[in-house]
Amino acid sequence: METLIEKQPSVYAFGNKKADGRRDMKNLLGGKGANLAEMSRIGIPVPPGFTITTEVCAQYNEEGKESVINRIEPEVRDAITTIEETMGAIFGDDENPLLISVRSGARVSMPGMMDTVLNLGLNDESIKGIIKMTGNERFAWDSYRRFIQMYSSVVMGLKPESKDDLDPFEEIIDHLKDKRRIDQDTQFTVQDLQDLVYDFKDIVQKRTGKPFPNNPWDQLWGAIAAVFDSWNGDRAIYYRKMNGYPEDWGTAVNVQAMVFGNMGDDSGTGVCFTRDAGTGENVFNGEYLINAQGEDVVAGVRTPQQITFLGSQRWAKLAQVEEEERKESYPSLEELMPDIYKELFEYQNKLETHYQDMQDMEFTIQQGKLWILQTRNGKRTGAAMVKIGMDLLKEGLIDEKTALMRIEPNKLNELLHPIFDLDALQEANVIAQGLPASPGAATGQIVFFADEADKFKYSILVRVETSPEDVEGMNIARGIVTARGGMTSHAAVVARGMGKCCVSGAGALKINYKTRTLKVGDHEYHEGDWISINGSTGNILEGKVATKEPVLSGEFAELMELSDNYATMEVRTNADTPKDALIARNFGAKGIGLTRTEHMFFEVDRIKAMREMILADTIKGRKQALKELLPMQRNDFEGIFRAMEGHPVTVRLLDPPLHEFVPHQLATQKELAEELHISLAAVKGKVAELEEFNPMMGHRGCRLGNTYPEITEMQTQAILEAALKVKKEGLTVKPEIMVPLVGTVEEFNQQKAIIDAMAQEVFKKRKDTVEYSVGTMMETPRATLIADKIAENADFFSFGTNDLTQMTFGYSRDDSGKFLPIYLEKGILKHDPFEVLDQEGVGQLVEMGTQLGRKTKSDLKIGICGEHGGEPNSVAFCQKVGMNYVSCSPFRVPIARVAAAQAAIS
Ligand code: PEP
Ligand code: MG
Repeated sequence: METLIEKQPSVYAFGNKKADGRRDMKNLLGGKGANLAEMSRIGIPVPPGFTITTEVCAQYNEEGKESVINRIEPEVRDAITTIEETMGAIFGDDENPLLISVRSGARVSMPGMMDTVLNLGLNDESIKGIIKMTGNERFAWDSYRRFIQMYSSVVMGLKPESKDDLDPFEEIIDHLKDKRRIDQDTQFTVQDLQDLVYDFKDIVQKRTGKPFPNNPWDQLWGAIAAVFDSWNGDRAIYYRKMNGYPEDWGTAVNVQAMVFGNMGDDSGTGVCFTRDAGTGENVFNGEYLINAQGEDVVAGVRTPQQITFLGSQRWAKLAQVEEEERKESYPSLEELMPDIYKELFEYQNKLETHYQDMQDMEFTIQQGKLWILQTRNGKRTGAAMVKIGMDLLKEGLIDEKTALMRIEPNKLNELLHPIFDLDALQEANVIAQGLPASPGAATGQIVFFADEADKFKYSILVRVETSPEDVEGMNIARGIVTARGGMTSHAAVVARGMGKCCVSGAGALKINYKTRTLKVGDHEYHEGDWISINGSTGNILEGKVATKEPVLSGEFAELMELSDNYATMEVRTNADTPKDALIARNFGAKGIGLTRTEHMFFEVDRIKAMREMILADTIKGRKQALKELLPMQRNDFEGIFRAMEGHPVTVRLLDPPLHEFVPHQLATQKELAEELHISLAAVKGKVAELEEFNPMMGHRGCRLGNTYPEITEMQTQAILEAALKVKKEGLTVKPEIMVPLVGTVEEFNQQKAIIDAMAQEVFKKRKDTVEYSVGTMMETPRATLIADKIAENADFFSFGTNDLTQMTFGYSRDDSGKFLPIYLEKGILKHDPFEVLDQEGVGQLVEMGTQLGRKTKSDLKIGICGEHGGEPNSVAFCQKVGMNYVSCSPFRVPIARVAAAQAAIS
């Protein structure tokens, strides 16, 4: 019997207010394809077309070009016929030709990462039809030469061969301009453009050994294959890695009828945003160019004009353009084409309401008719992400949970970055003014090439304009400056996506790549010179300008409050000083999850007493040195208890290998010998004695407190005396004493006995008591295996996932830098396990330790204080296993608060 398996289509059509696809089909149709279908469905005028699915891309990668094209050919031919019917034009016809565009479109937008071909279908015959249809010979030949240029570069690989090599087509263009003594593309005559077409075809034949394809179907299959191939191009691979997108997603291919923005003065093209992508302000904004194609706006060659009147005025002020000149040379679309503007305004409203998020749209006006080419959720800065989310919530477009789930916690980092100090800014010398393309403050040394961005520790990448090849370097640089391009130029869009400070379109900069110099007026700057840029105002400043910490209020504060309403886990901080504790409190930490006491001993005035303690040969000698340390420790704890104002504070007993405290250089060894009145040989002997082959697994953690109980005694005394003192001042104190690196029950129990005995002594002497708890870190695999037994005596557990990761993988925390990058590169590991908790392996131990602990004590308090406590994915895992709190460094507290809320919601 024949089974009928329904075949999944390879091609989904859209246009004419109908569509086969929908917005929720992003995985299959890519973001762009799904949105084109959805727009068409809700009545937005999109040029008709079709999407070849991402599944075909996967088949293409597996089976190769030939077999896939054979299979999809009938569907593609049908779909082309549908476009022909809608547009009333025929693909490849010499009377009435249909021209199409071919674009990539992955599940998420990857701007500029993959290739696009426009004007496909032009050849020596169809050009005649275009001339006849438009009556515009110049336009037709200009489109043809652009098509050959683009197709040859994208599909046939005809590109500059090295960084100082010129684009072969630009070289021909420049040569012709020189010959004709002109400097603008627009000055070319029809004859010039025809000459360009023939010269272009010649160079294609010469360089590739193949003729430029004349048959439109050959052109189409070539372009489709090139889009699929671009998924595995260097740019796309790098972008995927940077963003953690899997390789098997693939890209869809969108084939669509061309509409032309370059058909004369009643045509144009532009990019617009429903809200400000830099600040999040609720203002419609964007840029356009009359008589141009889309790439002219993003390429940054011509100065784009603003869409709204208000935007145009703002721009003119920044660009120092007088109102007269603005009105004359750079009018807004609102002024120039009020009806089109009104229509566009309505569509942007409709689309934002429909998608319930800020939209980034592309449009074209062809001889007075508006077409929307694409819409997508706009990339935005961290600040805009917060403002837009909270505004949409207030406007009732989304609910609280949606607002929270839309936040990318790690992007909040941008808001926590420094801003320029206002006084320093006033003193600073402004070199030039550009557009405020991506907010923030950055200071660094000038580099001119993206692949040299790592030449200096802090670099500012200065380019005429940027291109997708520059993305890696843009990510490394502290900030980006371009001399050309508007707010929607490549540099601006990519920088905003990265949250990187950027000033674009600083026209006064004369950049010379050959001499690696930058000239502004008479002043020349060289590679390596320091400059500062203000991405919020567009100022470029001379030298290093001081920065300061940002103030977090407004929408940010609202977001934090909203997070706390949903989060069920508390967020604590890892802080060793009152200063850090205060920073974390300001960020909303609800306690300290880890105070590493050893850091307190490294200060100059203490290290001596510490060394004395370590070098002592007798208990008496050791106790004497510890006595000196006691008041200092007590003082530290008092400060921390005060800063935390009644929130719990977990203090961990001394943890690191002792040899970290002794001097290893001869000069300092001599000094120490003199100070302690002992021989140099004695010092050297002790240092040698403390030397360990594997210090991370050596004499550290509770092994110190168990071999030298007087250390635990002194620290307990300091903690509890400090607590009593602060309690006397009228504050609530909740000390929690934590024993590190426990692996056996006895290791913990004996430490606890020492702590409890010392507590009784302190309480008796001070005639006062304070409630305290004693818990342990869970950071050796063995501890997690016997957690039920440890829990019998422990009041709390805190997972030290730094050590737990080290010991579970057997990767040294100190040495893994040598091989982890290679492991990541080779895909042996997906993430650095010291950054993102390895849920599969280490996670099992965390889960087991939690369950065993709670088996003994159902209300056992459990948290995490390893670096993972501030990493959103790991925070979600902590929620899943049922922890009470996460603890992270002060600057990650806001990130963890949002991550905790998201974990609770999902
Ligand atoms: C840990 O091991 O996860 C931890 C928090 O302790 P430290 O990093 O100080 O070893
Ligand atoms: Mg540890």
